[in-house]
Amino acid sequence: MDDCIFCKIVKKEVPAEFVYEDEKIVAFKDINPEAPVHLLIIPKEHYSSIKEIGREDGILLEDIFDTINQLAKEMDVYEDGYRIVNNCGDDGGQTVQHLHFHLLAGRQMQWPPG
Ligand code: 5GP
Ligand code: ZN
Repeated sequence: MDDCIFCKIVKKEVPAEFVYEDEKIVAFKDINPEAPVHLLIIPKEHYSSIKEIGREDGILLEDIFDTINQLAKEMDVYEDGYRIVNNCGDDGGQTVQHLHFHLLAGRQMQWPPG
């Protein structure tokens, strides 16, 4: 996806503050943080949204959630708690069309979301 900002971040064509990288996944700081800890965890491969994920991607999702939990430990928020968010589609508030999970922590989260 040539015009995808997150694909460009994966390829290091656009700078980002990386906190994790392996062969399938990267995690970096959100450019506009909504909490003291606000990371984006994404597959390197381009999926437009969670709707493109199927049973065959089970291992990838497992790896993403393992990574999120590991990052929560590294960010020292594992014990206090954290929120994992995936926005999908217009009503879901998705603004970047490359699958990503938000890891938000470091303050009390509100519920329900606005
Ligand atoms: P969405 O609204 O699609 O769930 O979340 C997209 C997120 O990506 C937003 O929180 C936004 O701040 C973040 N974002 C958009 N462009 C960039 C960028 O170029 N770099 C980084 N680090 N974050 C970005
Ligand atoms: Zn992409």
